[in-house]
Amino acid sequence: MRTHLCGDIRETDIGTTVSVTGWTNKWRDHGGVVFIDLRDRSGIVQAVFNPEISSDIHKLAHKIRNEFVIQVKGEVRKRPDGTENLSMPSGQIEVIAKELKIINECKPLPFMIEDDADASEFLRLKYRYLDLRRPVVQKNLILRHKTTKSVREYLDSKEFLEVETPMLTKSTPEGARDYLVPSRVNPGHFYALPQSPQIFKQILMVSGLERYYSIVKCFRDEDLRADRQPEFTQVDLEMSFVKTDDVMKIIEGMLKKIFSNVLGTELKEPFIRLSYDEAIERFGTDKPDLRFSLELKDMSSIVKDSSFKVFLDALSKGGLVKGINAKGLAGYSRKELDDLTKEVQSFGAKGLAWIKIKNGFDSPIAKFFPEPTLKKIAETLESEEGDLLLFVADTKQVANDTLSRLRNELGKRLNLIEKDVYKFVWITDYPLFEWNEDERRYEAMHHPFTSPTEEDIKKFFSIDKSEIQNPVKGRCPNGTLRPKSEISLLRAQAYDIVLNGYEIGGGSIRIHKRDVQNKMFEMLKISPEEADKKFGFLLEALEYGAPPHGGIALGLDRLVMILAGAQSIRDVIAFPKTQKAVCPLSNAPSLVDEKQLKELSIKLDVEED
Ligand code: ASP
Repeated sequence: MRTHLCGDIRETDIGTTVSVTGWTNKWRDHGGVVFIDLRDRSGIVQAVFNPEISSDIHKLAHKIRNEFVIQVKGEVRKRPDGTENLSMPSGQIEVIAKELKIINECKPLPFMIEDDADASEFLRLKYRYLDLRRPVVQKNLILRHKTTKSVREYLDSKEFLEVETPMLTKSTPEGARDYLVPSRVNPGHFYALPQSPQIFKQILMVSGLERYYSIVKCFRDEDLRADRQPEFTQVDLEMSFVKTDDVMKIIEGMLKKIFSNVLGTELKEPFIRLSYDEAIERFGTDKPDLRFSLELKDMSSIVKDSSFKVFLDALSKGGLVKGINAKGLAGYSRKELDDLTKEVQSFGAKGLAWIKIKNGFDSPIAKFFPEPTLKKIAETLESEEGDLLLFVADTKQVANDTLSRLRNELGKRLNLIEKDVYKFVWITDYPLFEWNEDERRYEAMHHPFTSPTEEDIKKFFSIDKSEIQNPVKGRCPNGTLRPKSEISLLRAQAYDIVLNGYEIGGGSIRIHKRDVQNKMFEMLKISPEEADKKFGFLLEALEYGAPPHGGIALGLDRLVMILAGAQSIRDVIAFPKTQKAVCPLSNAPSLVDEKQLKELSIKLDVEED
């Protein structure tokens, strides 16, 4: 139906006759001549309908409205001097229409199809097919396509096989709530949609496939936030006969290829690595944004000889006092400081203490500190005249968490975050376990198939059952309550990859021996019967010559969101769901017929609306 794409026509085509098709982006009548901006996926071209060339098609052009689908045949001409549009690649030329066909009409639109659409997100998602006509959204999907294409090319070049794993399966070990699917032919039995292909990819290693990958949908029934969706996509991979460095090398190479292909940005390898402990110490989080420095400093040993009760209380309860230097903000007014305090309180801290470096130490709390202590504080936070020093005193977890969020906020306020900068960091040496106070048991920090470090294997096996069964209360390095034991000091062969403050992936070297796996379940207070019921098929496979193996999964939506400079993963997913896990376009989830429920042997126990 067409000889050219709208956005591809250039000055070199002047004088040729073209046929173009697409949607009417804009329609206007200037002094009796109709101008139409015709749009297809490639861009826009201007078509001109002049009554002096054909009064019939000029008349027909008057019937066209926004988003009508049309076909125009005509001659490419240079635009008259002074009417060029430099913001458009085809802005030097126009098509003088000689034929026009209205292929399809369009109802009045629920919102204008513009790049900066201000319609509500719900409305845009309800009419997603219209929303997807916006060039910015199309750009995001094109970028997503280029990303997955780069992934496939790169992994293929490294001998990875793309293998599909089941969607109707059993619960996997990621620990979120499952989406369940009833089985009609096995009444009362349910499949779980996979939270990841974790177990199957490990089984593929036992099968000798050596290098697996898949770009795969995963399902987790969690409370949703800006960067979460009930179904999301992972670039999932697994490799045999490898150690941590081998997995990291593959991922660095893959990201390098993606950034080069998609953005033309050349990344430098190897990426920085930080141990979990160091990341928490310096940035308060294992997802540090390294586009700016602004590090946190532990002030506990300095402020312990002050008489400031709030600090002393936190320290006596095993917590800490940490500080950050808000460079150059000593001019903040009382109101600005109150607002900052409220913000930190909304993150979970009890309060925020401050000292301005302004003709000495200007602060309501300065009187509680001897002069040498104040000097030491200023020195530790590398402060100069005009700085504002901020402190949180709380449990280790709260102090770190709130200050890391404050750090991100200050990064923005102080304009420390440069555009188009990509700072990757590997976080390594994660604790193997974390303590769950509600359930009074340890949980695997990554998942239960993650191997302890080689150095810790002996210690891992030496931990006595009584220590797991009868935990003694204490506090662990990150401030959460935990039994005082060696358990929380054990490290895992687990790693996360972080980009600009977002966790974009995580993985581990796995346990490949049944005895290690059994001990792991014992530590997690998972009985042999329960382990067998949940993961028996993997456990059995481990007994049939499982090779050492490890892998990782990257969150594709989050990665593409960062590549596209988008604000939410919904902007890079063709048909996303809302924060309430609803699809406004299809109206899923929805009620089903009584007959369907009967076939599935399901009786509902919900109140009717
Ligand atoms: N299955 C893990 C996850 O989804 C990733 C991995 O360990 O490879 O987080």
